[in-house]
Amino acid sequence: MSFDNVGGRPTSGRTPRVSGTPSVVGQLVKRADGTIPFSVEFNPPRDEAAEARLWRAAREFERMHPAFVSMTYGAGGSTRDRTARVTGQLARETTLLTVAHLTAVEHSVAELRSIVGTYADAGIRNLLVLRGDPPGDPLGEWRRHPEGVEYAEELVRMVCGLGDFHVGVASFPQGHHRSPDLDHDTAYLCAKLRAGAEYSITQMFFDVEHYLRLRDRVAACDPVEGAKPIIPELMPITSLRTVQRAEELSGRPVPRRLMERLERAAGNDPEANRAAVREVGIEIATEIGRRLIEEGAPCLHFITLNFAKATTEVLTNLGYTVTAAPARA
Ligand SMILES: Cc1cc2nc3c(=O)[nH]c(=O)nc-3n(C[C@H](O)[C@H](O)[C@H](O)COP(=O)(O)OP(=O)(O)OC[C@H]3O[C@@H](n4cnc5c(N)ncnc54)[C@H](O)[C@@H]3O)c2cc1C
Repeated sequence: MSFDNVGGRPTSGRTPRVSGTPSVVGQLVKRADGTIPFSVEFNPPRDEAAEARLWRAAREFERMHPAFVSMTYGAGGSTRDRTARVTGQLARETTLLTVAHLTAVEHSVAELRSIVGTYADAGIRNLLVLRGDPPGDPLGEWRRHPEGVEYAEELVRMVCGLGDFHVGVASFPQGHHRSPDLDHDTAYLCAKLRAGAEYSITQMFFDVEHYLRLRDRVAACDPVEGAKPIIPELMPITSLRTVQRAEELSGRPVPRRLMERLERAAGNDPEANRAAVREVGIEIATEIGRRLIEEGAPCLHFITLNFAKATTEVLTNLGYTVTAAPARA
């Protein structure tokens, strides 16, 4: 399906389904066993070995019935092609509700429309709409494509105008690094929600208070938009090496008190004490997850780096169970 006009009418001649497509928000209901929904995030695989690993993780998670899975979107032509293909396969060949991330980086509006059309053709109607970061250096200067968009809000409007899509956006418990202050940050998030986004997923964090304050700010800024789900993102730390990744993804250093626990477990020989470090990392993620559940979070969204084991352990600690693999047609 392609969309070549500003109003967004599809031009393939086929009629898009206009209602009743499953949505992320529709999945955010308590599960039969009383646990809250959870979801997982994958990254585009770079090669065949990575792709095989992603599939192993996807099949593992399928047995735990996540509310949805999402696939991030990076820079670079060949990775982008692989991303679209694998995301489409996840949607078609598994029982998982699949969300594709979409970013404005290095894309014209025409290209963005065409990508949305590709996803629609693959049956993907749930998109996490983002501006994205400058390739290579997330903190570098943001450059809008000359025929692209400046802010995610414009992209939300565009995607919502293209038909029956369910859109989510990013939110930032401690504020986005380019926001002048938390009030501006909250106002921009509310604008994305007003533009048509149905929910947001937060940047990863380690202090649940930051998530709770974000929730309070959005509710105070706009009670209607504040009622939309804010899905917290978390990631189990499995080694001192993943601390660096966690800091990149959260945009902040891991809090000192948590680092001290990890360092204590690592002792003088982090290599020999890897299992102990991992255990503490799982424990920390479990504590964060438990507090979020107590505080009424609508879902727990896990960054998995395409591995199932650590997230599964956290979920098991929180009372989730693995069932038989779902039947596939
Ligand atoms: C859950 C999650 C998933 C992510 N997935 C990806 C991914 O797959 N690929 C990827 O490349 N990146 C991803 N990111 C990173 C994200 O793209 C970056 O953090 C990016 O810098 C901000 O994206 P945004 O959609 O929040 O942008 P925007 O909402 O456009 O905000 C960007 C900046 O502009 C400010 N702003 C917004 N509107 C206005 C306005 N009207 N006037 C002035 N200033 C304004 C905001 O406060 C912010 O500082 C993800 C982030 C999260 C939290």
